[in-house]
Amino acid sequence: MTDRQTEKRDLLGMLPEELQTELAKYGEPSFRAKQIFSQLHRGVRPDEMTNIGAAAKEALASFSRYYLPQPEQKLVSAIDGTVKYLFRLHDGNCVESVVMKYEHGLTICISSQVGCRMGCKFCASTIGGRVRDLDTGELVGQIVAAQKDLGVRIAGIVMMGIGEPLDNYDNVVRFLRLVNHPDGLNIGYRHISLSTCGLVDRIYDLMKLDLPITLSISLHAADDETRSSIMPVNKRYPIDTLLDACASYFAHTGRRISFEYTLIAGKNDSPKAAVALADLLNRKLRPERRGPEGGAVPIHVNLIPVNEVSETGFTHSEKAAVRRFAEILEQHGIRATVRRRLGSDINASCGQLRRQALGASGQGGDAL
Ligand code: SAH
Repeated sequence: MTDRQTEKRDLLGMLPEELQTELAKYGEPSFRAKQIFSQLHRGVRPDEMTNIGAAAKEALASFSRYYLPQPEQKLVSAIDGTVKYLFRLHDGNCVESVVMKYEHGLTICISSQVGCRMGCKFCASTIGGRVRDLDTGELVGQIVAAQKDLGVRIAGIVMMGIGEPLDNYDNVVRFLRLVNHPDGLNIGYRHISLSTCGLVDRIYDLMKLDLPITLSISLHAADDETRSSIMPVNKRYPIDTLLDACASYFAHTGRRISFEYTLIAGKNDSPKAAVALADLLNRKLRPERRGPEGGAVPIHVNLIPVNEVSETGFTHSEKAAVRRFAEILEQHGIRATVRRRLGSDINASCGQLRRQALGASGQGGDAL
């Protein structure tokens, strides 16, 4: 029987106060938990901790297990230094993480599940369905392992890798609290973005927690017919309901909302679609808009020419169509940027490396 199947806790997923409660049962002093926690999150293995005695290490081993995702593949972009990892987990499953240089420092894009059950038609991560959720230690472990391997400090997180973070809600919320902890990775909530395909009930749950993270909504279409045809989740939570949740999220947290819009040739990239998107966002989120910068909810649209995945058959929009789309949004007072394609030489968009590692067969995960 592996540690996973016993009751042992995942050490990297434990908060200092939880560690302290457990260690106290073995007579360890209260400062021990902080010592262990801060070293763990700097990538030090329990057996390498020189300031912790044998008794404390034995105590740790009796109630927890330690595992760090192992870099199975590492690709470094010759163009912009972006690093992409394929991490192997304790049970042989793999996920991807990408470390990128942003203006304010290094940012890591992490995965939240092995596979995904949301079924978006353009996305490589969902092709074999969802195999399982990542536990909290595995979410944190991607950051700890990347920092350790690169010898750097990571300052920001985007949850835009494989999986739907709000479909793994409890572990993700725990993860947010862990990485923000001052004795651990100490990553500010304002440097964390969570991207969702739109699980509306969970957006309201997240809102109530009052964490000042940035919410990023994968919108990809301005009308229900088009959105449902590429994102099955839209049948459950249509656009109107989703944007109502966004308005509430903003009213409650004051945080700006980002929208992801993947441009697919002939599907959602026409000038008419751009006008529809601008009208929709202005009508639903900025009814009192006065001028280009006015209005209630600060909105930002990220335009992403679709990464072509061989199984999906979608083609990315022409450069001119992308530019035109962005211009129309700007003309309607919506700030828009075309996503920089970091790591384009290493296939840095998520899901593709794992697909290659799996082979064409895929894996029998569950679907929405
Ligand atoms: N499940 C979450 C986060 C993971 S995907 C979500 O849906 O937001 C991160 C972003 O990449 C999402 O906006 C997703 O729609 C987009 N994406 C997925 N596959 C893509 C592709 N082939 N080309 C461009 N963007 C893609």
